[in-house]
Amino acid sequence: MEMSRIINCNMINCVYNKGNCCRTPAITVGPHAECNTYSHASGKGGFEDVTGGVGACLDTTCMFNEKLECNASAICVGIHDRHPDCETYQLKG
Ligand code: SF4
Repeated sequence: MEMSRIINCNMINCVYNKGNCCRTPAITVGPHAECNTYSHASGKGGFEDVTGGVGACLDTTCMFNEKLECNASAICVGIHDRHPDCETYQLKG
């Protein structure tokens, strides 16, 4: 299984966000589609040469969730009510 990549994140005040890209190797999503790795602090973390991926997803209501992992090829993260949410989330049909 390939790790789902984060192609864009609009949460620019996150310590791992540089230029609308996530720079930590793996985030955890859920249990309600939110990015649980989000952190707001002074300074920046992560690595310039890393494009983030989804290490785990706890939202089992999403159609892309398989065994608590994300099987979407890529996701986007946006801002919802001042917290970061996975915008690729789709309710299971
Ligand atoms: S995906 Fe999560 S950890 Fe990565 S930059 Fe966005 S809010 Fe931060």
